[in-house]
Amino acid sequence: MVFTTPSWVPKLAIDPPDTVPISEFILNEAHGRYPLKSSRNPFTCGITGKTYTTQEHVDRVELLARSISKELGWLPNQGTEYDKVAGIFALNTIDSMTLAYAVHRLSGIASPANAAYSASELEFQLKNSSSTALFTCMPLLETALKAAKGADIPNERVFILEMPKQFSGDKSVPFKTVGQLVTEGARLPKLESLKWEKGQGARQTAYLCYSSGTSGLPKGVMISHRNVIANVMQFERFESLARKERPEGEKTEVVLGLLPLSHIYGLVVIAQAGAYRGDEVVILPKFELSSFLNAIQTYKISGLYLVPPIIIQLAKNHQACSKYDLSSVKFIFTGAAPLGAETAEDFQKIYPDWKIRQGYGLTETCTVVCATSFEDIWFGSSGILLPGINAKLVSLEGAEITGYDQPGELVVQSPSVVLGYLKNGKANKETFIDDTDGKGRWMRTGDEAVIRKSVSGDEHIFIVDRIKELIKVKGLQVAPAELEAHLLTHPSVADCAVIPVPNDAAGEVPKAFVVKASSVGLEDNDHMVAREICKHVEEHKARHKWLKGGVEFIDVIPKSPSGKILRRLLRDKEKESRRKA
Ligand code: AMP
Repeated sequence: MVFTTPSWVPKLAIDPPDTVPISEFILNEAHGRYPLKSSRNPFTCGITGKTYTTQEHVDRVELLARSISKELGWLPNQGTEYDKVAGIFALNTIDSMTLAYAVHRLSGIASPANAAYSASELEFQLKNSSSTALFTCMPLLETALKAAKGADIPNERVFILEMPKQFSGDKSVPFKTVGQLVTEGARLPKLESLKWEKGQGARQTAYLCYSSGTSGLPKGVMISHRNVIANVMQFERFESLARKERPEGEKTEVVLGLLPLSHIYGLVVIAQAGAYRGDEVVILPKFELSSFLNAIQTYKISGLYLVPPIIIQLAKNHQACSKYDLSSVKFIFTGAAPLGAETAEDFQKIYPDWKIRQGYGLTETCTVVCATSFEDIWFGSSGILLPGINAKLVSLEGAEITGYDQPGELVVQSPSVVLGYLKNGKANKETFIDDTDGKGRWMRTGDEAVIRKSVSGDEHIFIVDRIKELIKVKGLQVAPAELEAHLLTHPSVADCAVIPVPNDAAGEVPKAFVVKASSVGLEDNDHMVAREICKHVEEHKARHKWLKGGVEFIDVIPKSPSGKILRRLLRDKEKESRRKA
């Protein structure tokens, strides 16, 4: 049984175009911002107020592209996009999208990396994506340079995105900045226009984001220009309903761009879908309660794009929040991890006037599959399908589920389903199913869902469990296989398995089950050995990957005859001991 979007949701007016880069689609007169006559600037710094008009933004993309072309020798119509991969390792800035679009202007790829990464994690991404240039920011420079060295990116190919002073400090900037490159671009000759063939936007990778998918190590997810264009169009249809009745000039919002632009939620849903709809995205480098509240008050932000751990923190700190004028807020939108119905209800009691909406999506579906619209909110639900997206539920035995309230793996079809994983035929085969009807590829999400009918008769998707190995800490991915491989390099670890355990503040955190190596003597104290193992992770991995769920020693890791870790048994064991505790 194929589930589709309810008929009252407006359909896409046109097929997502496949001949233009994303920036041209978003910023060009024919689409998005201009027909809406948005007078808002696309991006404003929530700390300093620095901003550019849409036209300035367009001009800066062009000038920056000229300079990048000169510095790196990249030309718009030469080579493939994989010859022109730029790693971006930075906190959010108002130039983040300018930079990505300048790389696209040269027909290259932007590969954004999580700003929390350690040098070795970044080095892995730079090498795996074949990045030959790195854009970073002053607070992350030391880590960036270590990784660049490991990935053979010379210092002449490292550039700096400027940050507000309180983040970048007073140190002099040792490399060219994006601002300087834009200025220098004005003195450089014009670039050739892009000559894209029909269909190129659907074939060509625009972003390489990293996700571990259903199993294994983080993989480069090849996201095409058309994938992004499709999803910003799909999401816009939803939002247009709530804006339809408003008078001309009030059809746009001021929204918060606080979540990392290195993650698909920030990159596509907040920054690009927002810019497309004519909204103003107020950019904050990272979450910090007082600058967050201050930005809402100063810029009269009406929509907050958040993740559940931030919502929990806001609820806990509502006394501090009440000191600020938050009356401009009309809605919050949460995604990247589940927001439980009870948490939503409690939050609603504190902010009775705010609409609390939830969306569900993946890097591999670039991005939103379903969301609650303003019209049909149901706590705990991840909402209804966006237009142009089809879904099926498949049981563990492979049978299609035909009724409501029966769990199965969610399998989705959309023009936003990505091109696949970079250089990983095995994962591609396991995850993607070819497009046979021209409506896009199908994708196995690795999430377990049920469909329930709302009072108004719509089919809502509830994500009830995760079948895949992934752990989500504060909405960020942690791949158990990556931690297991790392733990095995510790001399005290003979074997191990990592699973998610629930955590109030972060949603989930990783816990390791470890079989001690024979070298660990009986006289060694378990607590000390566990601490050493945790330290081994803390020294090499980003903070959200730390073993906050602890280390438990066991005699043997349960495995199938083929050697696959039976995580479900460990998760059940964990549940049982938590129940007893
Ligand atoms: P990512 O690719 O990092 O965005 O991770 C995608 C995964 O996050 C999904 O496959 C889900 O497991 C989880 N996820 C995202 N949104 C939700 C949601 N609303 N409810 C439950 N899980 C979610």
